[in-house]
Amino acid sequence: MRLIEKVKKRVRLTQEEGEALYELDLFTLGELADEIRREKFGTKSYFNINRHINPTNVCADICKFCAYSASRKNPHQYTLSHEEILEIATNSIEKGAKELHIVSAHNPNDGVEWYMGAFRKIREQFPEVHIKSMTAAEVDFLHREYGLSYDEVLDQMIESGVNSMPGGGAEIFDEEVRAYLCKGKVTSDQWLEIHQKWHERGRESNATMLFGHVESRANRIDHMIRLRNLQDKTGGFNAFIPLVYQRENNFLKIESFLTGQEILKTYAISRIVLDNIPNIKAYWATSTINLALIAQEFGANDLDGTIEKESIQSAAGAKSLQGMELNEFVALIKSSGFTPVERDSLYNELRYH
Ligand code: SF4
Repeated sequence: MRLIEKVKKRVRLTQEEGEALYELDLFTLGELADEIRREKFGTKSYFNINRHINPTNVCADICKFCAYSASRKNPHQYTLSHEEILEIATNSIEKGAKELHIVSAHNPNDGVEWYMGAFRKIREQFPEVHIKSMTAAEVDFLHREYGLSYDEVLDQMIESGVNSMPGGGAEIFDEEVRAYLCKGKVTSDQWLEIHQKWHERGRESNATMLFGHVESRANRIDHMIRLRNLQDKTGGFNAFIPLVYQRENNFLKIESFLTGQEILKTYAISRIVLDNIPNIKAYWATSTINLALIAQEFGANDLDGTIEKESIQSAAGAKSLQGMELNEFVALIKSSGFTPVERDSLYNELRYH
C-alpha cells in the first residue's frame, strides 16, 4: 500500500514510513494531518487559563541547550520561598487561573520538602486548582540526590496535591544525541519508566520533544514511536508537545534554525504517527503565536494557554515572558477560523468562547 493511502486508511506507520512522511510536500502532509484533526475535533482548538511558575533556576545538572539555569551565561540565581510561590499562585488564581504549571531546575540546596511543601501549601489554600508539576527529570533528580525511589517520589507528589505531570525533560530519546545534549540527566528509559509508574497510579501526563538542534528527522520519529509504544500500554498521555528549540544564551552552537516548513511538517507528522495520543499541542511559547495558529491546520488542536508568565523558554529567546491576555488569545483563534474552547487540565471542555 502506498504511504498516502496508508495514512488515509489510518494504518499505523513504521519508523521508515514516518521518516518518509518528511519527503511529502508541505501541503499534502498538512491535508493528511488536518483530515485526522478535523475527524477528531472538528474546528475546536483547546486552551486553558494557566499560570507557569518556575520556582528556582539553581540546577545541579548541565544541559547544553538550557538558558534558564544559573550558570556562567546566567549568573542571576534565584529560589522562591514557599510564601513567595503561594503569593504568585494566589494572585493568578484570583485572576482566573485554573492550572498552576510548576517546573523547577534541579535544586540541590533545599531538600525534598522544599518541593513537596510548596504543593501542600497551595493545596491547603486552593483545593480546586489543578497542580501540574514535577517533570520526570525532576523526579529522577530527587531520586538521585536524596535516595528516594521513583515510587516514593511519585507517592509523595500525590500526597502533597500534585494532579498531573508535565512532559518536560524528554528532550530527544536517542541515546547518542541525549548524551551530547544532557549527559547525567534522566535517561530515556528512566523518563518512560517514571511516566509509566505515574500512569499506573491512574494519573495523566504530557509528553514533549525538543527539536531543531542536533537531532535528525529519524531521531524525531524514533522519539514519537517510543512514546506511542508506552501509550499502547498505559493510555496515560493526554497530549504531545513538540517544543521548538530556542537558540539564545546557551552552550549549543547551532547556527542554522528550523524553517517554518520543517516545524509545520513535524506537527503534522506527530498527528499522523501518534495515532494513540489524542491532543497535539502547538506550544506558542516556543513556536511563536503566528506559527501556532497556522499549526491548527497541520494537525494541532491545542494551543496551551494564556501562560501569564514564563521563564524557561523566554530565557532562551522566546517571546513568552508575559503570556497573553485571554481576550486577545480567543480573538486570534477565532480569526484563524477555529473555535476557541477553554478546557481544564485533563481536556474536559469548560466553555466555548
Ligand atoms: S534543562 Fe533543566 S535540568 Fe537541564 S540545566 Fe536547565 S534547568 Fe537544569
